Amino acid sequence: MFQKILVANRGEIALRVIAACKELGIQTVAVHSEADREALHVQAADESVCIGPAASSGSYLNITSLVAAAEITGADAVHPGYGFLAENARFAEILEEVGLTWIGPSPDAIRRMGDKAVARDTMKRVGVPTVPGSPGPLDSVEDGLAIADRIGYPVLLKAVAGGGGRGMRVAANGKELAAAFELATSEAERAFGNGSVYLEKYLSEPRHIEFQVFGDQHGRVVHLGERECSLQRRHQKVLEESPSPAMTRALRAAMGNAAVAAARAVDYVGAGTVEFLLEDGKFYFMEMNTRIQVEHPVTEMVTGFDLVKEQIRAAAGEPLSFPGVVGKGGGSEFQPRGHAIEFRINAEDPVTFAPSPGTITTFHPPGGPGVRVDTAAYQGWKIPPYYDSLIAKLVVHGRDREEALARGKRALELFVIEGVKTTIPLHLRLIGAKDVREGNTSTKWLERWLKESKD
Ligand code: ADP
Repeated sequence: MFQKILVANRGEIALRVIAACKELGIQTVAVHSEADREALHVQAADESVCIGPAASSGSYLNITSLVAAAEITGADAVHPGYGFLAENARFAEILEEVGLTWIGPSPDAIRRMGDKAVARDTMKRVGVPTVPGSPGPLDSVEDGLAIADRIGYPVLLKAVAGGGGRGMRVAANGKELAAAFELATSEAERAFGNGSVYLEKYLSEPRHIEFQVFGDQHGRVVHLGERECSLQRRHQKVLEESPSPAMTRALRAAMGNAAVAAARAVDYVGAGTVEFLLEDGKFYFMEMNTRIQVEHPVTEMVTGFDLVKEQIRAAAGEPLSFPGVVGKGGGSEFQPRGHAIEFRINAEDPVTFAPSPGTITTFHPPGGPGVRVDTAAYQGWKIPPYYDSLIAKLVVHGRDREEALARGKRALELFVIEGVKTTIPLHLRLIGAKDVREGNTSTKWLERWLKESKD
């Protein structure tokens, strides 16, 4: 097992990794930018290194500084968290070249899933259904127009290197597609350094359902059930839950097997997520995220497993410790234990969604049965304006969905954050919405509801 792990991240995810290391008896090194000197993850770690200026390009994305920090402190492994360099195959390779262990899948697996067009092709080869669309990146507008005529409008252009909800454009007809192609290509070039785009049918009311998968170095790959993440704004998740209200045993078995097949296709080791769209009872592979995700706690709540500890163990070469979970690795049928919901609490105006950085003057998180709060915020913390606006994840667990919703409501009501605006009022309104209570949503639902409730 490792002696010392450097956590190449900040905020609640860095704290989450440090918590796992503490339980495993592993020393930790925090890294921070000049803007994060007072951050909680810095105080929680055994050692810390300042790796550069506030802008993440000079600090949390600065590979040279991160490698130097690991070498100076004598770390033997690096955990990337999520975001920043978590899906950067080159970073993983460099670490391996200098003799440090990367806590994540192989650079080859990251590359094959990171290019969305290659990933789609890999899925087709192993028999996992994909959304109808172009066989690979588009060569020209004409290429796109021909495919769109065949599959029908509306269509979605996606950057092959896209991520985080960016790099997508919808076109309702040929004229829009021609304009969108130019825009999408130049946007993708600027944002991701790769202008390639491909085309997919734009589904009208899909649900976003993703499966947590896990692989070890001994060839075992399993899944740990699904998370429903349909409540989204601008393709960004707002609330996640497990199990999905739309799930049946037969569908879980079929989607779970597809998720395991996807992970196996790239010899996956560690924690990963296979994302699908579900519409009219049919599911389609969308992409695989080769890292731990923001919403992993809901799976931890319904399985009782610590996924970050398991990532560390898998990177150290230990076999998976999950007993009897399905997948083709063997075991019994996956059975979620109760129901869990995660509310992403952002420092944002709950109506306009404008970021609201500033000093937190009062901070009192809720507690009690079935409540977990993952956060790096504290009273007096000045939220820097340079990074994303997530300040806390409230995760609730109940015996069933009804109890989880009631628990979510009371925990949101008891969560006191003053000094900055937060999305807590939005979540309270969401819990009160009939469709949310009935589990009757799609990826289009939230934006439509926001618009309707404004009119
Ligand atoms: P990213 O990597 O940027 O997160 P994804 O491919 O995961 O992009 O898609 C993000 C979201 O965009 C999905 O959850 C869904 O809401 C929407 N989306 C993606 N592909 C389609 C599609 N073919 N039809 C309808 N919605 C889609």
